[in-house]
Amino acid sequence: MLRLSAHPSGRHFLQIPGPTNVPDRVLRAIDHGTIDHRGPEFGELGKAVLAGMKQVFKTDGHVIIYPASGTGAWEAALVNALSTGDKVLMAETGHFATLWKKMAVSLGLQVEFMAGDWRRAADPQAIEARLREDKGHGIKAVCIVHNETATGVTSDIKAVREAIDRAGHPALLMVDTISSLGSIDYRHDEWGVDVTVAGSQKGLMLPPGLSFNAVSAKALAASQNNTLRRSYWDWHAMIEINPTGYFPYTPATNLLYGLQEALDMLFEEGLETVFERHKRHAEATRRAVRAWGLEILCADPERYSPSLTAVMMPEGHSADAFRRIVLDHFNMSLGQGLSKVKDKVFRIGHLGDINDLTLCGTLAGVEMGLALAKVPHEQGGARAAMSYLAEKAEVRSR
Ligand SMILES: *Cc1c(COP(=O)(O)O)cnc(C)c1O
Repeated sequence: MLRLSAHPSGRHFLQIPGPTNVPDRVLRAIDHGTIDHRGPEFGELGKAVLAGMKQVFKTDGHVIIYPASGTGAWEAALVNALSTGDKVLMAETGHFATLWKKMAVSLGLQVEFMAGDWRRAADPQAIEARLREDKGHGIKAVCIVHNETATGVTSDIKAVREAIDRAGHPALLMVDTISSLGSIDYRHDEWGVDVTVAGSQKGLMLPPGLSFNAVSAKALAASQNNTLRRSYWDWHAMIEINPTGYFPYTPATNLLYGLQEALDMLFEEGLETVFERHKRHAEATRRAVRAWGLEILCADPERYSPSLTAVMMPEGHSADAFRRIVLDHFNMSLGQGLSKVKDKVFRIGHLGDINDLTLCGTLAGVEMGLALAKVPHEQGGARAAMSYLAEKAEVRSR
């Protein structure tokens, strides 16, 4: 464990777009003795969390829980449903889409990567046009990152589904919701998604270590005859035993205690209320950014992310030096720019267990940091966010 020379008073502000601040209720739930994962109590826990995750994915189909980071669930989606040499269509929305593409290539898939400028969402019209050209149905899957965590741009999954249908194309639709599930409206069944990938440490308010697949009947059928090799990630071994609440290998028991608590919290607040809260906090954040006179990386206001905002640094100023000043002075972590936008943007995470005052503290820290780092900006961003939050004030239940 990293030892700080002195205890910093107050809480660390973990305002990166995941991992997010873990609520005390979840931490307390995790802090219980590990039980026998084959004993009588465990089955009830397993059944409860599997049922709860179906509600969050909005699916009646199978949900798989892996003791793995989100990257594991990416791999599971690909190796269960596809065959060596299969062609997949992916959209370059940013760093995470690029990593998923690299994984697909390394697994022996043929990837067609629709180029993007890291400021826009996946383009349903371009996807439709490409699928129409694919008369022989060589493309086996379309893979989209719902919320591109590197850029703060949310793609329209319903529109992508409609594009695939208009083209009359049988490709599977796979969607990464690692930084959107539990923060942004998502409907696995209604939107006809075949495999949804998710992770524990962002909107689900848990520490890192769990990840998920939601699987359609069509994807499950594809997994019967595919040729990509798999063992640990195999859906069938999970699906066989999961109805009893048990797992084929040792699950991350204590994280599942936390998941049960996090699901309770999401359902107590109500998923729709949770989504509205994220939208409201995102709008307040954007008002702050505009008041500072800084530019939002997402170039399409229709596609602004409710869970994070990436902010462009003025030319000649280092986003990483600024983040370091914020960390050192205010004990707050902001998200760094990744690969292509390294040092050029910083990201404000406003997802997970956040309320109005958490956000005000976050934005105040950013504003003070801009001044300390001598980044040219106007004052009053935090004030603009406060005015919006007060205007749209909500009665906190209980
Ligand atoms: C965080 C993230 C990932 C990577 O997940 P890990 O848990 O780090 O493996 C992938 N995709 C998106 C959209 C993410 O936000």
